[in-house]
Amino acid sequence: MASEKACLAVMNISDPTIYLDMDGVLVDFFGTFAKYAGVEHWKHIDQRKLQDVLDKITGSDYFAKLPKTKTCDNIIEMAIDFAGSYSILSSPLRGDISNSSKHKQTWVTNNLSPQPRETIIVRDKTLYAAANGVQNILIDDRGSNIYKWRQAGGYGIKYQADEDNLSVISGALKAYERE
Ligand SMILES: [Mg+2]
Repeated sequence: MASEKACLAVMNISDPTIYLDMDGVLVDFFGTFAKYAGVEHWKHIDQRKLQDVLDKITGSDYFAKLPKTKTCDNIIEMAIDFAGSYSILSSPLRGDISNSSKHKQTWVTNNLSPQPRETIIVRDKTLYAAANGVQNILIDDRGSNIYKWRQAGGYGIKYQADEDNLSVISGALKAYERE
């Protein structure tokens, strides 16, 4: 608690917020999704199977029970080292917005330590890209999210847990400090 207070005391008003995406970054969404569909990789799911699995997930507690990615805890640690805290910025499942949001919140409560400053579940992430002239940081696996974040004035880091090395994040954070 004492160290948390010390962190807050040194945090400048102009420090960026680091927002972390869930699925594909902290949460192993796709591995479990592929298992549900009975395929080896989620990219091998055809349209009909995809809909079957989405129907199964809709209204369920799927999002509360997913495993962490292998690098989840490392990413949290890197974010805290960089900014003193982090927040969650994740999108709800289309067609299951309030239910999926609730279970994502449960996942955050059960899996992350320390807890994020804020957990935001929203469709349009760009609302958080910049504030008071500060470029906020988003770590996300989806290219289109990163593109839109940058367009909105934010600093986007594209990272996909099952493909990228953590140096993608550490390198980009170092580059941010130099900017
Ligand atoms: Mg994602």
